[in-house]
Amino acid sequence: MKVKTRFSPSPTGCLHIGGARTALYSWLFARKYNGSFVLRIEDTDVKRVNDNYVQDILYGLSYLKLNWDEGPFYQSNRLNIYKNIILFMLKKGIAYKCYCSQERLDKLRKNQILNKQKPRYDRQCREYCALLKKSNIPFVVRFKNPINGFVQFTDMIRGLICISNYELDDFIIQRSNGMPTYNFCVVIDDWKMNITHVIRGEDHINNTPRQINLLNSLCAPIPLYAHVSMILDDSGVKLSKRNKSKSITSYIREGFIPEAILNYILRLGWSYKDQEIFSINEMQNLFNMENISKSPSMINDKRLLWLNHYYLNNLSTETINSYFFTYCKSNKIFLDESIDIQNLLKEFLCHHNTLEEFISSYLYLYKDINLSNVDNIQTYCNSINIKILKFLYKKFFLLTCWYKSDILLLLKQLTKKFNVCFKNIATLIRIGIAGRKNTPNISTIIFYIGKNKFLLRINNLIKYMQSYILI
Ligand code: GLU
Repeated sequence: MKVKTRFSPSPTGCLHIGGARTALYSWLFARKYNGSFVLRIEDTDVKRVNDNYVQDILYGLSYLKLNWDEGPFYQSNRLNIYKNIILFMLKKGIAYKCYCSQERLDKLRKNQILNKQKPRYDRQCREYCALLKKSNIPFVVRFKNPINGFVQFTDMIRGLICISNYELDDFIIQRSNGMPTYNFCVVIDDWKMNITHVIRGEDHINNTPRQINLLNSLCAPIPLYAHVSMILDDSGVKLSKRNKSKSITSYIREGFIPEAILNYILRLGWSYKDQEIFSINEMQNLFNMENISKSPSMINDKRLLWLNHYYLNNLSTETINSYFFTYCKSNKIFLDESIDIQNLLKEFLCHHNTLEEFISSYLYLYKDINLSNVDNIQTYCNSINIKILKFLYKKFFLLTCWYKSDILLLLKQLTKKFNVCFKNIATLIRIGIAGRKNTPNISTIIFYIGKNKFLLRINNLIKYMQSYILI
């Protein structure tokens, strides 16, 4: 039997860490067994679904290179399939129309809670719906859940799970507006798409017995289920789309690369000995259900930073360059050719944890500086500094070879001539060429910015200072 897994997000929020982990585990399981991986968008909850979320999910999965073999299928395009099966079920008597008003259901629920009973539908229409058949009253369709016996299944992570049918009520499979519900569509799709292994979050574990009963009623095969434990935030609260869970897109925007994100989410609930770093190939070979943890795991942004740093330093130069240029393009950062970005990356990327951190440390090489935005610039505007800068300009203008060593030598000569400490000269230059007081090694920055831009910016600083003194 060919393994077939699926990732079936509801586009009611962005792709977040928990969803991406479900996708990764399902993808790895399919890849490991040479099976196939299906992407299905569960968009029947029309009130909460949003196309921006669909785009976000597709973008996140593509960025992480979790390629799907079939789909994306949209449940909203499959309504006819669901409708026909519901008609069939009504005809066969395994589903029934329920005409109970919201008012009656509310009252029922209130009484049950008052009597310390589990709130559930009392199956009134299961017996009497035939009498109301021709009525115009709006109705929902309910599944005739077996009344006696048990449902049991062996969860691939949690082992045997057994639920009494007494615990389950006749759940709704079609709403009064004619739309089929999640619990119905998911069952029909898993069946019709020949899904063999359902890997999903443990928040769905209560749905599984209902879904198995439904599959049994349709004589459909039952897939194997694996319910992955939840992820907690750093204060121990369950992560969800609605709270602190960060979307994959925001990690991408911050400059995290696919290998690091995948490695990070892989380890949120799965382990192999003490190993921390897993290449994609290793993930595919080593991934198994046995090593998925039954207990919740906790997000740890420090570990993600560490992994990103590791991969930025250990992937091939071509791979890193391609991530870097894609990052710049999607963040609309335009790099001009005057800067030797390849060597800058080679030399300095190792000091940074993310692409964003790297870029923001060097963006001034590209972007013009607005000197009036520099903190306390007025304290630097004096005639001595202007004199130093004019001399510096002249000396650098005459420099014919633009080497780091020559640049450093010139700076040292300057400090001697004006009897000022190196740090002060460096700060002055940093303000002029970077618009900030901290940058990496000053001679290196002068070297990378290039002679023309360097002289232009020093000249601007002189002019700014002169005009400030005049005021
Ligand atoms: N659409 C569901 C969700 O986003 C997942 C359904 C499933 O995996 O069975 O939570």
